[in-house]
Amino acid sequence: MKKIIPALLLGTLVSLQGNAVVDKNFDYHVDRFADIEVLRYEVPEFDRLSLQQKKMLYYLTEAAQAGRDIIWDQNGRHNLQLRRLLEAIYTGYTGDRQSKDFKAFEKYLKQVWFGNGIHHHYSNDKFVPEFSEEFFSAQVGALPAEQLPLAAGQTKEEMMAVLLPVIFDPSVMAKKVNQDGTQDVVATSAGNLYEGVTQAEVEAYYNALKDPSDATPISYGLNSKVVKENGKVKEEHYHLNGLYGDAIAKIIYWLGMAKEVAENDAQKAYITKLIDYYITGDLKLFDEYSILWAEDTKSDVDFVNGFIESYNDPLGMTGSWESYVNFKNSKSSARTETISNNAQWFEDNSPVDPRFRKPHVKGVSAKVITAAMLAGDAFPSTAIGINLPNTNWIRAAHGSKSVTLENITEAYDMASHGNGFNEEFVIDEPTRKLMEEYLYITDMLHTDLHECLGHASGQLMPGVDQDALKENGAALEEARADLFALYYLADPKLLELGILDNPDAYKAEYYKYMLNGLMTQLNRIEPGKDVEEAHMRNRQLVAAYVLDKGKKDKVVELVKKNGKTFVKINDYKKMRAILGELLAEVQRIKSEGDYEAGNKLIQKYAVKVDPKLHKEVLDRYSTLDIPPYRGFINPRYTPVYDESGEIIDVKLGYGENYVEQMLRLSRDYNTLAK
Ligand code: ZN
Repeated sequence: MKKIIPALLLGTLVSLQGNAVVDKNFDYHVDRFADIEVLRYEVPEFDRLSLQQKKMLYYLTEAAQAGRDIIWDQNGRHNLQLRRLLEAIYTGYTGDRQSKDFKAFEKYLKQVWFGNGIHHHYSNDKFVPEFSEEFFSAQVGALPAEQLPLAAGQTKEEMMAVLLPVIFDPSVMAKKVNQDGTQDVVATSAGNLYEGVTQAEVEAYYNALKDPSDATPISYGLNSKVVKENGKVKEEHYHLNGLYGDAIAKIIYWLGMAKEVAENDAQKAYITKLIDYYITGDLKLFDEYSILWAEDTKSDVDFVNGFIESYNDPLGMTGSWESYVNFKNSKSSARTETISNNAQWFEDNSPVDPRFRKPHVKGVSAKVITAAMLAGDAFPSTAIGINLPNTNWIRAAHGSKSVTLENITEAYDMASHGNGFNEEFVIDEPTRKLMEEYLYITDMLHTDLHECLGHASGQLMPGVDQDALKENGAALEEARADLFALYYLADPKLLELGILDNPDAYKAEYYKYMLNGLMTQLNRIEPGKDVEEAHMRNRQLVAAYVLDKGKKDKVVELVKKNGKTFVKINDYKKMRAILGELLAEVQRIKSEGDYEAGNKLIQKYAVKVDPKLHKEVLDRYSTLDIPPYRGFINPRYTPVYDESGEIIDVKLGYGENYVEQMLRLSRDYNTLAK
């Protein structure tokens, strides 16, 4: 529940402020297909790292890539076999590569690569192939037998009987994660986290394990698949001798190499714990690792590697495998350090009922990082901010680590230059100017405040279950963090702390937030569908609430100009006051576990879409050719060895394109090959 994904990729806003070091000639654009654009990001200041740090970074990037196959299998039980089959066809195809069928096939493969499987990474809907079943079957028929990725004992006919409906039948594995609470969300989700069990069986299984009086519970289900064996529900754990053991063995090897060149003993200690956890699958060890990791704020090179976020589980328990490798951006970190050093002031002065505030905000460490590698569920689509660990009692007792991925945000901004978005959607020249000048910094600050303070603020009343808000928990938690950030963006405290230099700067972010929440994020939704994804529900909730509550004073309006709809903010101060009211209410809902009130808010503001406005947004977007989703390929790290086999340097390279990178990863990190 604790990651930020980019809200909106605005156009001409970039006047990079402060410390950004950007190479103007760097080529951010890599590929474009379907609703996706693939970018590359720069890794500035890599060369200032010491040789030891470069070695560590290299080993960690190997550990990151070694886990790639895990997320593919978690996302669907046929994904790996299908990927191997698609790639064999793609590389061996001898026909006309410009033909309509082949072009459609290539587009599908690129989509599957981007989704780490057959479902869209964001909407969770299955991709629709635009080539025919006949074309596909003919290509499979043309493959030499040794290139068929058959499972043990499987014939070609058996494989095709499984895969054809998986690709072509829209009713088979239709949605990766189904969150429609009126259905059995376990049985109707196509992800590979459960097999042969119902939602009721899984819930009964975990309820029997959980001890409500345990103040430091492990994160049940985080690293397992739930199956039925001889009529009994049981977990298959992910560890060295369990599920995904072959990939985990490689991860352990590279983590072991990294441990040898760790920057300090604290870092060595948490890598050791992480390895022990991967060997045993013992979640107590994972908690111990998480505490050591959260408390290490000294190391320059840092990483996440494990089963972390649970968005892909309809029950929110099992972690998707992911990895981030990064190092600290010291200059920009000064900003987040200032914020987190003042965390208690922000908590004490929030508009929230004092009973629901934290009397002692615990160690919200925050830093700005340079991403060096994205992997697993964080690749190619990535977060721009992360706040971990996720376990509530660890966050309360030991704090959490919050990071902003500045070079990723920079890449988004740089790649958006001149795409016409602001001219189309922003109401007037003064607002555009304000956004050009202040949106970059206030957007970054919004991420910082959301991560460092928002998620870490507030407390539950005694006895309140942290899962009490059920299916609305994620959206309300994101709303809470966003509201905290938005409320304080307009606070004079930020000027006093020297973080902003203009009392009107916050208006850039307020305008963007309303525009996105009321209108432009609808670009990500197909006609006729509701808002489903948690972050999008949160953003519509906040924006629609402000519009509604500010109606009688005309705080914010939707106005028409030349037949087009625009967001018009008349009173930014009153808007801030309404944000404060909603923050207080959402915090009350969370603190008291008031499911009814939370559900009412979500249903009233966050789900439904005005079909007329939706169509208008889609039409206006279509004239701009801005892809709704973007992601990244990684740079390459190549070690340089001396005659004795010692690494004497690590070279950073950006030359690959999307297809080359995906094929290389499949070849070199084929860790779960049968
Ligand atoms: Zn968040």
